[in-house]
Amino acid sequence: MRNHLAYSALNYFGESNLDRVHQHRKNPVWLDEQLSKPRTVLLPFRGLRPLLTQDRQLQPLSVRELPVQEMDLTPILLGERNGQAYFAVDLLEEHDIPLGTGSFQDLREVTLQLARPDSSLLAYAKAMIHWNRQHHFCSVCGAPTLSKEAGHVRQCTNPACHTSHFPRTDTAVITMVTHQGRGLLARQASWPAGMYASVAGFLEPGETLESAVAREVQEEVGLPVHHVEYHSSQPWPFPASIMVGFMAEAASDAIKLDPAEIEDAHWFTRPELQRLVDRGEIKLPPALSISYRLITDWLKG
Ligand SMILES: [Zn+2]
Repeated sequence: MRNHLAYSALNYFGESNLDRVHQHRKNPVWLDEQLSKPRTVLLPFRGLRPLLTQDRQLQPLSVRELPVQEMDLTPILLGERNGQAYFAVDLLEEHDIPLGTGSFQDLREVTLQLARPDSSLLAYAKAMIHWNRQHHFCSVCGAPTLSKEAGHVRQCTNPACHTSHFPRTDTAVITMVTHQGRGLLARQASWPAGMYASVAGFLEPGETLESAVAREVQEEVGLPVHHVEYHSSQPWPFPASIMVGFMAEAASDAIKLDPAEIEDAHWFTRPELQRLVDRGEIKLPPALSISYRLITDWLKG
């Protein structure tokens, strides 16, 4: 039996060495204590971009450098690592703090240069900041919400409603489709020239993950799927998804494209695809994506 815990950790954003210290989120004494310790690590973001050094590594700030409580900021507790508490902080333009030589950079562009556990940490932080930003108002009654439990709950301020809102993740399925030893790759018109990837789409309410795989493959490339196997999963904070990867065997190879979604799709044998990739005639998706992992795992057989 495959150990999926280890297998998913091989995906970018899937390897973490953080203890999320769930038990401390509701403990104001513990939280205040952490926010006064010089060793506590603050990870500032601005416009959903993390603060990084010039050579694209984490540039954490201390509570002395970024006095979050004096500045009336709402830090989000991420967890503990090596005995230090980690918080994400969403800075607005008006929060003018000395950054040294650091700058706010796009996570997607820097992921391959970051240490794996650091990229996972930033992905988690970015997703939490995004969710908090999107839930300043209650979706039940429209009243403002307040951050609770160190940023992991938003509570409606209307006493008649008082709904608690919890962080949400959008589930997407992504599938390497095969048929009798060949693999299928498809491209959307908006992608860079020559780039092909596996088929993907969002899970809909009332579906199993596996039936979402079968539906997406049928919709996008017109292929009936009769066998689905789970591969691995990947947190994907662009902006708020979990990608769930599958291998699926199609019952036929007669492709029928949905032109609204897919510009082109092809079947490849492993040697054919490898040759086209080596020659640069086909580009695979970025190495940080689970699509890249699905395709390269299939290529390795
Ligand atoms: Zn409400």
